[in-house]
Amino acid sequence: MAKKTNSRSKLGWVVGGIWVIVILLAGGIFMLMDDAAVVAALPAESTEPPQVAALDNLAAAPTGLPAATQTNTPAVEMLSNTPAPTLPLATNTPALIPTKTFGPTPTPIDFPTMMPTNEALWEGPLTIGNSVEGRPLELWRFGRGENKYLVIGGIHGGYEINTIQLTDQLIAYFSKKPDAVPSNATLFILRAMNPDGATKPHKIEGRGNANEVDLNRSFPVGWSSTWDRSGCWDSLELNAGRHAASEPETIAVMAFMLENPVLAVISYHSMAPGFYPAGDPVDPNSDALSTYLSIRSGYPYPAVVTGCHMTGGLVDWAITTGAAGADVELTDHWNTDFNINLSLVLALLRWEPDR
Ligand SMILES: [Zn+2]
Repeated sequence: MAKKTNSRSKLGWVVGGIWVIVILLAGGIFMLMDDAAVVAALPAESTEPPQVAALDNLAAAPTGLPAATQTNTPAVEMLSNTPAPTLPLATNTPALIPTKTFGPTPTPIDFPTMMPTNEALWEGPLTIGNSVEGRPLELWRFGRGENKYLVIGGIHGGYEINTIQLTDQLIAYFSKKPDAVPSNATLFILRAMNPDGATKPHKIEGRGNANEVDLNRSFPVGWSSTWDRSGCWDSLELNAGRHAASEPETIAVMAFMLENPVLAVISYHSMAPGFYPAGDPVDPNSDALSTYLSIRSGYPYPAVVTGCHMTGGLVDWAITTGAAGADVELTDHWNTDFNINLSLVLALLRWEPDR
């Protein structure tokens, strides 16, 4: 009897133990599901109130902004080959407070410290800021070499969304072949600088952001509230913002580039194939970059000269950070010229300025 009682006691402990394990597993699965559900509810179609007020306050002093905030957005299907980030659970749990994980936070985060592992060949998407309507500006990082390069898609949405289709293709390519990035190079790809414009139809009306600002006129270099539109392909009455760097998308790119200086940046547009280097007069490094990339891609340089005078341009501002820069125009509004641009980006990763 005593023995039987003892067996029952043991059985009770075993059953109890199993229940504990089941409950723990269920709890874990629930947390994971909750995480995924929160993430799934967030990205592109988020209608969370834009954090315009906070971003406006930061506009006056963009250098104080955090560089990037990591999201827990699951890697897209094409990126599934990558080892899962080995972040500890405690680091992942802030995703349960979704609206707080995007955009500037009171405590600036040093970009390099939020890498999942030092050995990771690539990671993304990382959120470097939010659009006016609260959509994340998503950035991928490939390689971790000393020479850094930045590729930007979709500064103009609408009819230029083929530039975002191109950055999607580039992200897919480099996530499968991260070793295509030279060991001394780091490639950053900002998938879409103007995600609000990207939601609009494939027409000129999607060029600006949600404030009808032409982001390529909004940077604090030669900024002007209005400009001569002759030769500039922008008959649409967009504006340059309330002041230089008034837009959250602009601030996010500036903050990232100030904290992560790159040797060169290219910003994709469509359509008029060719290179439009930074600077007026043309910056010598940007001229050299355009010549070098033209030879290796086949896109013309000099490109068609239309007489357009730039004010507040992204690449014109970028050279103030020490980068070389060029706008690169795809051939039309529909194709991505992927093979041409893969060659272009692979060449970009081997370019260095004359020192
Ligand atoms: Zn454009």
